[in-house]
Amino acid sequence: MQPRTGFTVAMPVYGLFVIFVSPCACEPQPFEGRVSHGRYFEYHDREQEALCPELLPLLDEHAESVGSLIGSAPSSGDAFRYYKFRSFQELQASDDCPSESGGCAFAGEVLSPKAFDTHELSHAYTFAAWHGPFNALLSEGVAVALSCSPAARYTFEGAAPDWRDLLSLSGEEPNDNQTQAANHENAVRQYAAAGAFTTNLARRYGWARLAELYQRVPPGVSELDFQRQFSQVLPASVDHEWSLALGNGDAPACVPDPQCALDAQEDGQRLGAACVGAERPIDLVANIGARISFVGTGFTLQSCSDSTQTYWFVGSEATAVQTTHVLQLPRDRYLLVYDRDLPASDFALESYFMHSLVGDCGVSEPLQLEGSQPTIIDLPPGTTTGWLALNGASRYLVAPHPSILSGKIELCDQCGLAASSCSAIPVGESTAVTVTAGSWLKLDNLISLDLAQIRFTPTSVDP
Ligand SMILES: [Zn+2]
Repeated sequence: MQPRTGFTVAMPVYGLFVIFVSPCACEPQPFEGRVSHGRYFEYHDREQEALCPELLPLLDEHAESVGSLIGSAPSSGDAFRYYKFRSFQELQASDDCPSESGGCAFAGEVLSPKAFDTHELSHAYTFAAWHGPFNALLSEGVAVALSCSPAARYTFEGAAPDWRDLLSLSGEEPNDNQTQAANHENAVRQYAAAGAFTTNLARRYGWARLAELYQRVPPGVSELDFQRQFSQVLPASVDHEWSLALGNGDAPACVPDPQCALDAQEDGQRLGAACVGAERPIDLVANIGARISFVGTGFTLQSCSDSTQTYWFVGSEATAVQTTHVLQLPRDRYLLVYDRDLPASDFALESYFMHSLVGDCGVSEPLQLEGSQPTIIDLPPGTTTGWLALNGASRYLVAPHPSILSGKIELCDQCGLAASSCSAIPVGESTAVTVTAGSWLKLDNLISLDLAQIRFTPTSVDP
């Protein structure tokens, strides 16, 4: 299982791995629904839309490529069962998965609100191939290593979790002293650490040795027993391997996600609306940026070339408020990961663009701010200096995110030396401004380690 994507996540999960232990006749079969067949899959869903034509071939390809790593080729005589729920709420109401988990898996079976859930699929393959009993640190680590999910943009330098605390890793623990967002971030960080650990073991010793270790370590193992089993299978200590994997902060990822090989999303495409299937990537190799609108709490873009490069785009908790992001990222192909609670038709890639958002005077088209919903400008990490033409027709509250470490932001009435009237926009505060045709944003040595986000909220909308 895995933490849900997005930040609207709540918690409890106690000793839930017990339910995965039996490989057996106790798997739930939550509904029959519409049944489609791939070479290795029996796919159940209850959607209105057709399955996308590439979905079942992609699942088959995934089963083969992961199967070749874990030493167990899929067999068409023994199909994996996939239950695609319509929403997270529907999954939760079924009671077939642990409470609040984003999906779950059994040997050869996946239950998920996602049409193509690589994390749960990886569990289903390994549970079927390696059998139990298994330990949560290793089984979650293997699922993350094989799926790049959940995605995390972390280096562990100086603040890596301790493996001893992750032996019973099981999603988000309730913690009254933390906000939901902090709790969620902590869970994703723990999963990422487990993934880095197992990815490192597989790279150094091979998947077969990792499988041997996996099969020897039961759930509920003590620290001492874990260390003992570890040193019987591998010629090293847990502490040493843990520090190798997490110490440098460059713990590599995982098996490339086959969704990255699909044709990219096109301008104007309403994501996920036309058919039930895998998400097509956002192509910022040929394009520099994109304008994306959605309703919901947020979404993530995950780099196809390096899964540790992920970027989070915040939305709104309010159900009816649409948010627009105008984003520029380092050149790459990205997979979109969004909260499945969203109706997919409310999520649209409006357009790509080919120019840098910030440049000299007159270089770019004015960026149109929305008049009735927030627009967030997302500039790539690093240093940014230059001008950005704006167009708007009303009053906005503009709020540069505190992740911008230093630099100066001003709103001017003209570009360049001709700018006679500029007003400062401090970072971490909300400043009321009027944006009309001909307004310019002046950015002077903006430095940000993450995306530099500048939010414009029309004053008629609650910020
Ligand atoms: Zn999992």
